[in-house]
Amino acid sequence: MILADNLDRKFDVVIIGGGQSGLAVGYYLRRTGFSFIILDEEDKAGGAWQHMWKSLRLFSPAQWSSLPGIVMYGGVDYYPTKDEAIKYIRGYEKKYNLPVKRPVKVITINNSSEGFSLHASDGDYSAKAIVSATGSFQNPFIPEIQDRRLFRGIVIHSSQYQSPDEFREKRVVVVGEGNSGAQILSEISLITETVWVTQNEPRFLSDTVDGRYLFDAASRMYEAKLQGKPFQPPSLGDVVMVPSVKAARDRGILQKSLRPFDRYSTDGLVWADGHEEKADVVIFCTGFKASLLHLASLQVVNTEGKVPTFETKATNMANLWLVGYGNWTGFASATLIGVGRSARRTVDEIVASLDSSSIPESSSNQKIKN
Ligand code: FAD
Repeated sequence: MILADNLDRKFDVVIIGGGQSGLAVGYYLRRTGFSFIILDEEDKAGGAWQHMWKSLRLFSPAQWSSLPGIVMYGGVDYYPTKDEAIKYIRGYEKKYNLPVKRPVKVITINNSSEGFSLHASDGDYSAKAIVSATGSFQNPFIPEIQDRRLFRGIVIHSSQYQSPDEFREKRVVVVGEGNSGAQILSEISLITETVWVTQNEPRFLSDTVDGRYLFDAASRMYEAKLQGKPFQPPSLGDVVMVPSVKAARDRGILQKSLRPFDRYSTDGLVWADGHEEKADVVIFCTGFKASLLHLASLQVVNTEGKVPTFETKATNMANLWLVGYGNWTGFASATLIGVGRSARRTVDEIVASLDSSSIPESSSNQKIKN
């Protein structure tokens, strides 16, 4: 790790968040000669993967779960475990000697004609440019549904789920038709009774589709954008048939799902037509919203909880980029295979912007040649 012995804590670029997105930006930035640091709130490398449930399998095969520079081991037919993803990300950070400082939480940021000043858990930093790469895991989304107070059971989000063991002999309702919902339902249904609630009829990819489609779609979208042509991206929510999900389908678990319920009752859920289901536990696999609290002081976050961007560049503030938050920051940018493209483009733009405004300061981060 090239850690700044830069005592005045002034950098050309500060990257906030040291998960895969922050590291991918660091990978390209290290070639530029600009001084930079990655500030990450976690104790260890691996970002959000460290908090996901124990048995999680990536929905993207190893070959298509790679950051720029190193291909994840496992090939085109192997769905890595989350521990393998963490190991890969830790190895990545180490191999490229990326300057990550942990645990450091960025709390607020201010902007002036001098650049950005950041207030963090270990003191203050300043930067000419900022890349926000804080992911969304810290901001889980659970829809508000009537009479929640009445329900005597447990309501959790998939981000809190670890393993099925604690739900033995409970009746569990899993809400959400994405990959998380399908995988969690598949394993809980092995040990207890389950009900699946989905917004729409779930859509399953064919058994032969692998994660390459993400990469192909990202490429086609990028080309279309360059040519100014419209492009409708495919859904990233369609369920990938990883082994546990295939097994659940073969047990008949995935064939039935109910549309969203209307309200809670004391011991279950009630639908608009009066249908009721008893429930001890409801697990919402209903996604996340970007974690952007640290940007609130810049007043750039809109009412949807996003920052208006063109690709990754904020359109309402100079020298601010957002990487890895999903399609609004570049198609498939919230995936391992997709974030590399966003990171490269971001660094090209940072170089153009900082080069046009100043010559990089000589700093404690030495220029690294690849
Ligand atoms: P994170 O991994 O969340 O990293 C952000 C980092 O920023 C964290 O370390 C966090 O502590 C830090 N941070 C946050 N706020 C601050 C702050 N204020 N100051 C300092 N640090 C801060 N993608 C795939 O390609 N294939 C898959 O199979 C796949 N499966 C997934 C399954 C699930 C259940 C989920 C939720 C996501 C999956 N993804 C998958 C999507 C994506 O790859 C991961 O969510 C990934 O963790 C996103 O990386 P990130 O770096 O953008 O964010």
